[in-house]
Amino acid sequence: MNLKALAERLLPGEYPSADDYEALYPPRNLPKGAEVTRLAPSPTGFIHLGNLFAAIANERIAHRSGGILYLRIEDTDLKRKVDGAVEAVIRALDYFDIRFDEGAEIGGDETYGPWYQRQRAEIYRAFAKKLIEEGRAYPCFCTEEELSALREEQTAKKEVTGYYGKYARCRDLTEEEIYKNLDAGKPFVIRLRSMGDPEVKHTFRDEVKGEITVPENDQDVVILKSDGIPTYHFAHAIDDHFMRTTLVIRGEEWLASLPIHLELFEALGFRRPRYGHNCSLMKQDGETRRKLSKRKDPELSLEFYRKEGYHPRAVKVYMLTLLNSNFEEWYLKNPDADLASFPYKAERMGKSGALFDLDKLKDISRNELSKLSVSDMGAFLRVWAGEFGSEEERGFFADEEKMEHVLALCMGAGGKKRRKDFETASQAMDFIRYFFVRTPRVDEYRADPATRIAVLEAFLASYDPEDDSSAWFEKVKGIAAANGYAADTKQYKADPEAFRGSVADIAEILRIAATGKANTPDLWTILHILGEGETKGRMRAALREALTEEIAALRSILEERK
Ligand code: GLU
Repeated sequence: MNLKALAERLLPGEYPSADDYEALYPPRNLPKGAEVTRLAPSPTGFIHLGNLFAAIANERIAHRSGGILYLRIEDTDLKRKVDGAVEAVIRALDYFDIRFDEGAEIGGDETYGPWYQRQRAEIYRAFAKKLIEEGRAYPCFCTEEELSALREEQTAKKEVTGYYGKYARCRDLTEEEIYKNLDAGKPFVIRLRSMGDPEVKHTFRDEVKGEITVPENDQDVVILKSDGIPTYHFAHAIDDHFMRTTLVIRGEEWLASLPIHLELFEALGFRRPRYGHNCSLMKQDGETRRKLSKRKDPELSLEFYRKEGYHPRAVKVYMLTLLNSNFEEWYLKNPDADLASFPYKAERMGKSGALFDLDKLKDISRNELSKLSVSDMGAFLRVWAGEFGSEEERGFFADEEKMEHVLALCMGAGGKKRRKDFETASQAMDFIRYFFVRTPRVDEYRADPATRIAVLEAFLASYDPEDDSSAWFEKVKGIAAANGYAADTKQYKADPEAFRGSVADIAEILRIAATGKANTPDLWTILHILGEGETKGRMRAALREALTEEIAALRSILEERK
């Protein structure tokens, strides 16, 4: 068969040669050992935790070696394209400090662009044409119906599905048959003519998993679709070569395609990049472990972390903990270090499923947030509120000095030990809400209305905003004693029978009255931040609530006695 003529008929026109392309995309001028890694998402608009997981690995490896991380958009499948998706990917990763050196919407060294596969149509066609000329690719005229009938037949026979061996009907069409089809205007795709045998297995060195066994490929995969657009397999091989990628860290779901990729590199005559297949993120679901799922687990989406206001460092610390087995120990020794100084190693990556546990992330989050300075915390919350908070929450920042006091108190700044009350920005904003607005009561009073009335009245009668913390507390003790409560807890513990309770119960009444919560940081400071007017206002409101309850109780007694 005249393969040159066939190639010309299938893909007419002049294309640059392989050598031309080699010259056009020369090897990168980087120091020895520098790795070129990439992220190659399709622009579906959904970027998930698994992407971040792989992104951190690629970013760390590239940047620790003095190399390049680039962003390539695999948009060969138009059906999946969503407007603004690329910007969304960049923004989502930027939040976690993943910065690309070049790529789609980033720019950088234009030598290796464009980074949208749709804009690289010519190069894929040029190499498809070359493969046809060399007899390593051929046109296939099978229709969708024929292919699905084939799949059904194979499934029924319990055979591997696909286009291969004896099932690859168009593989051995004669020259005459091919031209007849072409003359009849039949649409065609271009397939790889596979030379592999799946019975033959090779040892493959995976950068993450170590030595694994990989069978040869025998699938005559499509390399160019009928519209001339390449498939992912074909495009990625050409791009990884000409973008001079040295290492690909990607999810282990791609391991199944590895035989195809290896054969494509061989057919194209390219030296392949090294591959490392990263383990999947798993979730404990009752007795079983399963992959995180888009449908069931909102925490799979990266948007989730920004919306909830997880601090990016917390998420990164957790991802690194899951990614590199020696990270946790290193971090324990270097809790305040720049994460970039961790000696990240591909070979320390987990070989099988990493268990993702949101509670563990929450713990890490509390810890990370407790380490922030008050002003960094304020800035973090302000940015979050600006994007995701309510109008009311944004209003909390109007009085900067007050916000600073609130945060210093809630974080235990200046104290011996930092408080770890803040978990995420959304939770923190909720946590501090009562400083700014009167919030509905969260906790129930344990004291009966009559006691609360007595306590609140006594408090209001003696309250002086000028009192320092100890003078203030002396007064609270006085109120306790006057109502049959022990003025200090030691006294109470020594003889609990002699008292109705201790000063802690009295403080609880005041605490719930002022904040709606039974657990808060130091109450005196809270009242100080609230100021005289607001403190009195809240105590009066609590007093009214107690009076209303008491009146209702008395009424019902009266009813009963009628
Ligand atoms: N475009 C593929 C994806 O959507 C990239 C796979 C790879 O990294 O080779 O994840």
